[in-house]
Amino acid sequence: MTTKRLPETLIEAIRYFTDIDVCTEFVAAMRWPEGPVCERCGGMEHSYLRTRRVWKCKGCKRQFSVKVGTIFEDSPLGLDKWLPAVWLIANSKNGISSHELGRALGVTQKSAWFMLHRIRLALQSGSFDKIDGIAEVDETFIGGKARNMHKDVRERKITGTGGKDKTVVVGALERGGKVRAAVAPDRSKTTLQGFVRDNVEQGATVYTDALNSYTGLEHDYLHATVDHAVEYVSGQVHSNGIENLWSLLKRGLHGTYVSVEPFHLFRYLDERVFTFNTRELTDLGRFAAALGSIGDRRLTYKALTGKVIA
Ligand SMILES: [Zn+2]
Repeated sequence: MTTKRLPETLIEAIRYFTDIDVCTEFVAAMRWPEGPVCERCGGMEHSYLRTRRVWKCKGCKRQFSVKVGTIFEDSPLGLDKWLPAVWLIANSKNGISSHELGRALGVTQKSAWFMLHRIRLALQSGSFDKIDGIAEVDETFIGGKARNMHKDVRERKITGTGGKDKTVVVGALERGGKVRAAVAPDRSKTTLQGFVRDNVEQGATVYTDALNSYTGLEHDYLHATVDHAVEYVSGQVHSNGIENLWSLLKRGLHGTYVSVEPFHLFRYLDERVFTFNTRELTDLGRFAAALGSIGDRRLTYKALTGKVIA
């Protein structure tokens, strides 16, 4: 591993990752702390072909690169483009568009779009332990025509619906901890309570709004409801934390992305959840957290464009 000081800012990261050998060493060290492992046979004995930057496995005789089995696999773009892209995306508070990324890296918008989606895949939060302290659970509507949030909230209160063209997103925030969120088919009792049961330990405290779908949770949880229509926060019972995530999500969607197809919404959601959950880290920390999950997450163009859902 190189002894060069690690980058701390975007400009340092771009300089640092201009050297493909440095990039290769960096990714290899992240992926294989014990040394390179053959993707095919698991062998750890190999020789390194420096000119082609590939390892030749002594077990199965196959060659493999540091990109094999990662979101970078099969990409004609070099790690000198990929790593600054990961840095940019992991550290962007409101998201970045494919146009912006393309211009910043000097690649086409189409390439940038594919990179963005692959990197979002790496940002997807892995499996968590269930929340067992206080959980703020809330649902919101995303998409459709741009409307302001107050009107959304009002519609929700008055009619109980958010419009047919909107997608439901549900989330659970552990008070003082991490958040998890998912695109949901609807706001039914089955869907919302299913989400709670998947993410929150029985017996924990759950704060939700007064939506009828949450009625019944009190059998397995200490359930208290927050009335959104009331403007003040009554002590501990509030959902301000998860509401912060929704505003982060909506800011990114309305401000940066021109349009989001409902099909891709869950990837944008993963990106904002990542931002939220790594809010205490440094830029280098977020970059490392994103890079830490590049393995075993290949995303093919076919899967991405909807022929196959990964
Ligand atoms: Zn092998």
